[in-house]
Amino acid sequence: MFGQEKEIQIRHLETCSTCNGSGAKGSSGPTTCGTCGGAGQVRRATRTPFGSFTQVAPCPTCEGSGQVIADPCTACGGQGLQQVRKKLRINIPAGVDTGTRLRVSNEGNAGQRGGPAGDLYVFLTVQSHPSLRRDGINIQSEVAVNYLQAILGDTIEVDTVDGPAPLEIPAGTQPGAVLTLSGKGVPKLGNPVARGNHLISLKVQLPTKTNAEERELLQQLAGHHSARGQKHPHKSGLFGGLFG
Ligand SMILES: [Zn+2]
Ligand SMILES: [Zn+2]
Repeated sequence: MFGQEKEIQIRHLETCSTCNGSGAKGSSGPTTCGTCGGAGQVRRATRTPFGSFTQVAPCPTCEGSGQVIADPCTACGGQGLQQVRKKLRINIPAGVDTGTRLRVSNEGNAGQRGGPAGDLYVFLTVQSHPSLRRDGINIQSEVAVNYLQAILGDTIEVDTVDGPAPLEIPAGTQPGAVLTLSGKGVPKLGNPVARGNHLISLKVQLPTKTNAEERELLQQLAGHHSARGQKHPHKSGLFGGLFG
């Protein structure tokens, strides 16, 4: 999310360090191909009833390189390349997601006969978090509050990608309400100053047990609402005035 420098291990082909990419053993070096005389091409004349045609084809002996290796390097078998494990430090930019492809210049396979190396492509997988979910540049999570916090309002602490942060529960918040912490989402790839939001769904928990004191207070409240209910006969139920 926030970017990081990370060490990775890769396997790629490098120029053989024994023969320096020539593919030849010791100082023998490649020699000029006897078949094509170093041209890398052979000409074949074909006679037909319409005349004589000359075709040019890659030399079958040296495969077009113009040189042959009489005594191949034992380390690379004459290929001039060797498989190497390498540790690399790569820079992960902020805002990447699973499937993001990073290009690392010149860390691909080495070219033939000491030619320039290609590029390395790194595909990223972002690990999930136990309680925070990612939805594009937004973060989603759930938090439970008790019924008194939902009715009266409160400020609680919630987990965000920036660590614990205060979340204000407004008085009268309904179960399933979604509260927003602006700017606490994922940085935008390429413009990390801009960030998404953190959306928090509220679960309201009701007590399964109440002690004697709580019951008395709740009954007083119920009586209060029942009395109000009589003044407003169109509202039904004990809590009609509160939840209606
Ligand atoms: Zn070699
Ligand atoms: Zn040849």
